[in-house]
Amino acid sequence: MSAGDVILEVAGLRKYFPVRNVWKRRVGWLRALDDVSFSVRRGEILGIVGESGCGKSTLGKTLMGIHTATAGRVVFEGHDIARLKPHQSRRFREHLQYCYQDPGASLDPRWTIRGSLHEPLIVHTDLPRPEREARVREMLRAVGLPETHLDLYPHEISGGQQRRVGLARILTLKPSVVILDEPTSGLDVSVQATILQLLLSLQRQFGLTYLFISHDLSVVRLICDRVAVMYLGRIVEIGSTGAVFTTPRHPYTQSLLAAIPVIGGRRVTETFALEGEPPSPTNLPSGCRFRTRCPKAQPLCAQRDPPLRADWPDQQAACHLAD
Ligand code: SF4
Repeated sequence: MSAGDVILEVAGLRKYFPVRNVWKRRVGWLRALDDVSFSVRRGEILGIVGESGCGKSTLGKTLMGIHTATAGRVVFEGHDIARLKPHQSRRFREHLQYCYQDPGASLDPRWTIRGSLHEPLIVHTDLPRPEREARVREMLRAVGLPETHLDLYPHEISGGQQRRVGLARILTLKPSVVILDEPTSGLDVSVQATILQLLLSLQRQFGLTYLFISHDLSVVRLICDRVAVMYLGRIVEIGSTGAVFTTPRHPYTQSLLAAIPVIGGRRVTETFALEGEPPSPTNLPSGCRFRTRCPKAQPLCAQRDPPLRADWPDQQAACHLAD
């Protein structure tokens, strides 16, 4: 990956939350992100997957500045924004947008669609009204809604249309990177397909880069160029979607893939189900953090924390025994 291709570079990112007792005294740290490093190419879709509680949403929110990073770097379009105060990072973060599971749910019921779409432009830009109106109309058309919707209120349109308006609202600021947090979760399969098609069409039309946070591996396989697998606050495997899904190197990835239902065809991984709950991120095991659930664990795994190894053309994995 050449430096010019990289739009977002994350290095050694940590986010620790204090754990307090009933007297509010700090008794430990919850390591939600623990030394996370990866790069994102301009125009790609990078999937972030893992069980709930693995840190994928915390990662998205820390990149956005919703959580302040404990340590590490987030270099976005050449600027390190990890430790900037909100007012300092505002002009960079306009181009880095976060999309909640249902972006339509955040529409103000007292405002018309026009009001909701103008608001981010009023707050973040000094565009005159005619230019704002032109941008708003462009984005409404881009998400497949007629301009007649501008004068309606959220309760006058369907839930699916509200979701589209929410997306249009994010796009009004012309972001270059959008962090999509479980964008298809809770939707019927047919609605999921429509939303995925819309996201892909918007990506092509506006040259967007997506970080696609999801627990749905089937969807990730369908639309992501690369995928990062997280376990207990750390990336344990990252690589091209083809490589990770056909030759997963890390036992955790293998167990996640084994959990995808297969109808007909042959499963590509050794099939062992993932058993038990992950350990608490406030009390991580020594060595490899997956060793308490790993069927391949050896004594070495309790002694040394495996680094991400780039031993394969399109893939890196953090496992002593991966081959
Ligand atoms: Fe399993 Fe050891 Fe590899 Fe960790 S390092 S995933 S415990 S084999």
